[in-house]
Amino acid sequence: MTDLIRYTAAETAAAISSGEVSAVEVAQAHLDRIDAVDKKVNAFLHVDTEGALSAARAVDAKRAKGEELGPLAGVPLALKDVFTTKGVPTTCGSKILEGWIPPYDATLTTRLKDAGVVILGKTNMDEFAMGSSTENSAYGTTGNPWDLSRIPGGSGGGSAAALAAFEAPLAIGTDTGGSIRQPGAVTGTVGVKPTYGSVSRYGLVAFSSSLDQGGPCARTVLDAALLHEAIAGHDPLDSTSIDAPVPAVVEAAKRRDIRGMRIGVVKEFAGEGYQAGVMQRFNESVELLRELGAEVVEVSCPSFTLAMPAYYLIAPSEASSNLARFDAMRYGLRVGDDGTRSAEDVTALTREAGFGDEVKRRIILGTYALSSGYYDAYYGSAQKVRTLISRDFDAAFAGVDVLVSPTTPTTAFPIGERADDPLAMYLADLCTIPSNLAGNAAMSLPCGLAPEDNLPVGLQIIAPAMADDRLYRVGGAVEAALNDKWGHTLLEEAPAL
Ligand code: GLN
Repeated sequence: MTDLIRYTAAETAAAISSGEVSAVEVAQAHLDRIDAVDKKVNAFLHVDTEGALSAARAVDAKRAKGEELGPLAGVPLALKDVFTTKGVPTTCGSKILEGWIPPYDATLTTRLKDAGVVILGKTNMDEFAMGSSTENSAYGTTGNPWDLSRIPGGSGGGSAAALAAFEAPLAIGTDTGGSIRQPGAVTGTVGVKPTYGSVSRYGLVAFSSSLDQGGPCARTVLDAALLHEAIAGHDPLDSTSIDAPVPAVVEAAKRRDIRGMRIGVVKEFAGEGYQAGVMQRFNESVELLRELGAEVVEVSCPSFTLAMPAYYLIAPSEASSNLARFDAMRYGLRVGDDGTRSAEDVTALTREAGFGDEVKRRIILGTYALSSGYYDAYYGSAQKVRTLISRDFDAAFAGVDVLVSPTTPTTAFPIGERADDPLAMYLADLCTIPSNLAGNAAMSLPCGLAPEDNLPVGLQIIAPAMADDRLYRVGGAVEAALNDKWGHTLLEEAPAL
């Protein structure tokens, strides 16, 4: 038997449906892999061995009865610990939710189960998805499989690391400011932030509701597309869910032809702070797009330079409101409830003990920005900037089909390097944040290793809202051309764990 953990999701599903392997064998191979390497990587907060094997048995039983299997039936997946899973712990990387067992499944969880996807467990993340390195998790940091002393990105570092460590062929992330794409970039994997509202947020524990978006993570563009189609689509349980057909992303991923497409290079995403090797691989990718027959032009989006400050007012403002629900009465941790204290005191003691520094910093920032004397000056101004950013995108997309940039200005940095410097940490999302503010669709895919440190570089592709298929069309073509050029996939260059 070939090494099952190295199969793509598409290959895994085909092998199961043809009877070459059983879903249980596939699940067991991945559980064994997790057993072997996850002490080092720490991608998983919780491994659901029984749940995974029973989901796999159900797929095998279906096949035995001759029932038709869906395109991802039996394929293992690592789920970011920010989606609720009925009967399975959900912590959001926070002490305040330690021991909480959700009584219901998120819509995304339900869709995965309905598709026959085998959920292996829940992955590590920065607390409440606030961070770019997974160092803000209350349960220890995750290592980057390329170099365990470096960060795997964040907040979805666990999901990306699980892919790169061959612990799962598929994973789910959430992207509020870059938390799917930046971990994808620094681990040499593919991550997609779908159009805002196209994947349900029901059961996604809220950080910043106007920005949060769940999406697919995978090792190939086609696998991401298959997962995208499984999780996207209208959900009446989410009031911001878009009631429109999901773009044909699988078909687009298979097309591998970008002749005649117009592609814009965003001028503002370059310059100071961008690592030389990142820019080198990005510029080579732009050349490749030309060779593949696209027309490449430079575009300017002047308001993008204000995206970071606007994000760090809007996201903390929404977080300060969303996280008010952790009041020691409803979920998880409760501290100081000894019969002598008021409910208010118990709430305060619980939040003091249960939240980490970054979460507290954002609650304070957001509460301040929303306070009556400052609301217009801070939150109001940030909302105006948000509109300007959307207008820059509209103007750009009037002339091009997609935009491209590096996903993140640098490769994976050493664990600890930015831990005490929030502003340096925030810079990791310089190129990803504008798409969250505008609500459009964006992908990161590997485009090579930076020569100075031999670490993965991500190419970001951005498409207009509900044109997610364009990401896959361009991404699929670039991936195929690069794999041809290298003679293998990028992850095959990763050191053995
Ligand atoms: N790194 C950004 C932040 O800390 C984005 C996080 C995310 O997308 N969840 O807010």
